[in-house]
Parts: sequence; C-alpha cells; structure tokens
Amino acid sequence: MNNIRLAQDLVIKSDLSDILEDILRGQRIRINECMRLVKSIDVVKLGAIANLLRQRLFGNTASFINNIILNYTNVCVTYCKFCAFYRPPGHNDTYTLSKEDVLKRVLTSAQTLGTTQVLFQGGHNPNLGLEYYEGIFDAIRKSSKLAIHGLSPSEIDMIAKIERSSTKEVLARLKESGLDSLPGAGAEILDDDVKSYISPLKIKSSEWLRIMEEAHELGLKSSATMMYGTIESEEQQARHIIKIAELQEKTNGFMAFIPWSFEPNATDLQSEGMIRYPSGGLNLVKMIAVSRIAYFGLIDHLQSSWLTNGIGMAQLALYYGADDFGGTLIGEEVVSATGARSTELTSNKIINAIKQIGYEPVERDNFYNILKTY
Ligand code: SF4
Repeated sequence: MNNIRLAQDLVIKSDLSDILEDILRGQRIRINECMRLVKSIDVVKLGAIANLLRQRLFGNTASFINNIILNYTNVCVTYCKFCAFYRPPGHNDTYTLSKEDVLKRVLTSAQTLGTTQVLFQGGHNPNLGLEYYEGIFDAIRKSSKLAIHGLSPSEIDMIAKIERSSTKEVLARLKESGLDSLPGAGAEILDDDVKSYISPLKIKSSEWLRIMEEAHELGLKSSATMMYGTIESEEQQARHIIKIAELQEKTNGFMAFIPWSFEPNATDLQSEGMIRYPSGGLNLVKMIAVSRIAYFGLIDHLQSSWLTNGIGMAQLALYYGADDFGGTLIGEEVVSATGARSTELTSNKIINAIKQIGYEPVERDNFYNILKTY
C-alpha cells in the first residue's frame, strides 16, 4: 500500500484526487471522470498515478511475447482511409498466403526463434471463405503448439457475409478448428461519426462490440485496441474507453488493452490533408496512463506501443502504466506499408530494452501466463 499512499500524496490537492480514491475503493469510473482524465494536461501527474497502479499489479516486471504475425492477405474491399496496407482486388501488388506458405512460416519461426503465438490478421478478401481459415488453423494446430490469436471482429463479419452465416456461427466453427483468441483490431474509435469518415465501409461500433461479446460468450478471450490520432475528439476517446469498460464488466473477456497511435504516412487521410503528422510521444504516454487508471481492477494488461512509436517511447510507456511490451511481431506488413519504421524485433532486443530501464523481462504466452524470467 505504500506506493498507493505515495500516489495519493501526489494528487492529494489535485483535481484528480477523487478519481483515484474511487478507483482504490474499487469503483468504476464513468464517462465524466474519464473525460476529466483525457482532458487533463498534467501528463506527468497522470503518469505518476498510473505507474504506481501498475507497480501494485506487476511490481518491477515487464512482459513480452515471442510471436510471428501473418498478414495473410492484403486484398481488401473496405478501403479504410487510415490504411496504407491494402490493395483492391485485381491490383498488381496483391498477395494471399496459401496454407503451405503459412505453415512454412509458422514452423520455421517456432524452430528458429521459439515463437509461441501466431497473430493472424489481414484484409477483407472477398475470395476467402470459412474453409480457408479452418484449413489453416487446423493445420497449425496439428503441426505446432503455437497459440492462434487471430481475426478481428471486422474480419469475422466479412467471413459471415461471404458464408451468409451468423458471426456467432463463424466464431464457433473457427474455435472448433483451433482459434484460441481474438485481437482487438478494427475498433479504431468506437464512435460512428469517426468511423463514417475514416472507415465508412467497416462495421459500426455496436457490431464490433457485439462480435466481441459473442466471442467472449463462446470462451474466446480477446484484446481491445484504440487507434487514436485521426479526427476524433477527446470526448470520443473517453467514450471509446468507457464502452470497452462496460463490455468488460459484462463478460470479463478482454485480456489486454492496446492504445496505439495512427501512422499517417502513405494513407488517404494524409494525402487528403486531414492528418499530416503522427500524434507524437506525449499523447502516447498520456493515453497509456489514462488507460491504466480507467481500467484499474478491470483490464490488467496494457501494452506499450513500440510498433508505431518506436522502442524508446515504448520504454517510457512502461513508466506511464504499461506492463507489456507486446510481441516480437516477426513478419509484420501493415505498419511496414507506411514505411515509417522497422517493424520487427527479436526477443533479445526486447529483453535488452526492458533491462535497459531497470525492469525485469518476463516472457509470457498467449494468455499472459509467465513462461520464463530473464
Ligand atoms: S485497415 Fe483492414 S479493413 Fe481497413 S483497408 Fe486496411 S486491411 Fe482493409
């Protein structure tokens, strides 16, 4: 409790002290409190509170997962304005991985790098029916021990439309074929005014939440994400955080929250002149801190966002409330398409990055169980 008392001392005379007291009493914050956190300009104070809450849960450890990411197809008919990765059907640069391609990459990464998870995400390819995914998941399960963390709600929705089936039926069949959990991608900002501009052809906020609820009901855990830094307001950011908190109170199915910043390079939002620059490091650590405070006692794991913000900022995020460095992401293609930075790390680089700032690296599995301490 000493750390928590220190946090209370830090904010005792501040405008946020009542929020911290409520959280420590086990009360959930609601939209008004979340708005105050998001609108706070005292990022250092937010970080001090968040870091001490993080220490209460995880002490001095910071976790990571040794994983491979397979962006299995770049064919997509959803044309999101924030995406530099997709290619329309018929474009010269399209690709789709075959089951053999997938198996080769998965087995090679497991044998040479010791990966324990495959993160499987791609475009909304109208030519890929349920059998494509079932065949791949079944083959991975039969030939390796890697957990399959795959297919965001919008991909599930696309498969259901192709199959003229329900999203719940699709989820059940994918679970049967080996799917272990869902990544939280495709949420962006759960506000339909934002979505109708940046991704008008993608599922609406209520559909994202409904598909996540269906997955949780079937026993498929997931993560949740927030992509900030496009056209959304602070109020829309706060509402996004609260919508996920409300579903978590109902299902307890979210294992982790991953706030990540929009990378504008080579996207329509940049070429239209709407967003010229990434939202930057200060916003990164602020969103991490707000998330830790808002989700304390509700969603334990919070990932730093090295993929779009770089290793240095991800290290700093660990001091602002994050407990997980994320994955090695061997083979990442989506953010790589923006050309912004190198988008894969080896586990040794992550271990060194965590040690550099005085934390103890622990390798985790898909369900955040600790596998090894370094
Ligand atoms: S973000 Fe996903 S759904 Fe949107 S265009 Fe890119 S690949 Fe397609």
